[in-house]
Amino acid sequence: MAGLFAGFFAPWLIYALILLVHLILPARQVAGYVHDENTGELLRYRLNGPLVLVALVGLWFGAGYSRLLPWDWLYTHRWPSLAGSCVLGLIISAAAVLPFKGHGGHGRSFRADFYPGRALNISIFRGRVDVKMYLYLVGAVMLGLNILAFTAHHLLLFGTPSSTGVLVYAGLFFWFIADYLVFERVHLYTYDIFAERVGFKLVWGCFAFYPYFYLVGLWAASGVAGSPLPVWQAVTAVCVFYAGWMLSRGANMQKYYFKTMPDRAFLGIIQPRALRGNGHALLYSGFWRVARHVNYLGEILMATGLTLALGIPGSLIAWLYPLYYIVLLVPRERADERRCAAKYGELWKEYVRRVPHRIIPGLY
Ligand code: NDP
Repeated sequence: MAGLFAGFFAPWLIYALILLVHLILPARQVAGYVHDENTGELLRYRLNGPLVLVALVGLWFGAGYSRLLPWDWLYTHRWPSLAGSCVLGLIISAAAVLPFKGHGGHGRSFRADFYPGRALNISIFRGRVDVKMYLYLVGAVMLGLNILAFTAHHLLLFGTPSSTGVLVYAGLFFWFIADYLVFERVHLYTYDIFAERVGFKLVWGCFAFYPYFYLVGLWAASGVAGSPLPVWQAVTAVCVFYAGWMLSRGANMQKYYFKTMPDRAFLGIIQPRALRGNGHALLYSGFWRVARHVNYLGEILMATGLTLALGIPGSLIAWLYPLYYIVLLVPRERADERRCAAKYGELWKEYVRRVPHRIIPGLY
């Protein structure tokens, strides 16, 4: 019973700790891409994701090394911990929607606004914490801690030779998490930040879904002894993952530089050619010339590489992660398309004519 209780409240404690560490550690102060709805000024953010990750991983390591907690404590308490995250996600979602009647939903009922949210941006602690960025930080750091605990469990149970696939998976996933946090600033220019509101989708998504579902492959693999991952399989997984990373990171960075330094050649070689008209500019070179959202393809490839690394290609559960990206990103591309068509008008039509494929160059 005590274990259930501890597991249930563990994420509550960890999320509070992440908030505290985020508040007290030094942070970069940056201007974002989104304008304040009231003042029209660019919103400002305090960003210190990599430091928070290092601090929390350090605490996990310290607790394990000093034998305060077993290395795989979060694994053995995974079910109550997942339940605790879900309940906390519900409570905080309500708290993020209720006080904002009249924002976004424009007088709609709480029921109608609960899922998408009402406020576009919420900041707390006198502007020191942007709620959206905190939510993504929580999701990323908790996902990292879960990966460490699940991997530790596999190692403790089956030993290193049988855990090579799990170790490759954990290494690649840590790259994914660290990469997101190192480039936090670039993510200020993405759809979630400029188009989504703060409601159940975002809050519960970051508290419960992101840190527990993203490693669904590891849930499937953690109780399976497995055999040493053949080198060719490990190499394939790593190549697929990094091919995806290059597409995703490359496209995101190219767009980020275009928005912030429009004349700068990306990586020194890709010229920022653009279609211009009615006061707007759309990038039309490099990654943005091969497909309109090639970064989404990158995300799907990264998820595929991670799944391949586990060495259990017959497990349907392990494939849920790449499948989830297809289900998420295909409709999202359509939604973004509608938004861009409305915003850019004729210019967007011209862009679509010149770059006809949505996500997969030459195919879709
Ligand atoms: P994009 O980064 O593709 O952003 C779309 C926006 O970019 C458009 O609304 C438009 O905004 C601008 N834009 C589109 N085409 C052009 C162009 N040719 N030139 C200049 N600007 C353009 O999509 P997202 O924000 O959805 O995704 C960002 C990243 O996050 C992607 O790599 C995605 O894969 C990843 N992602 C990861 C998830 C995860 O769980 N790991 C979940 C979802 C996304 P504007 O009006 O400002 O110009």
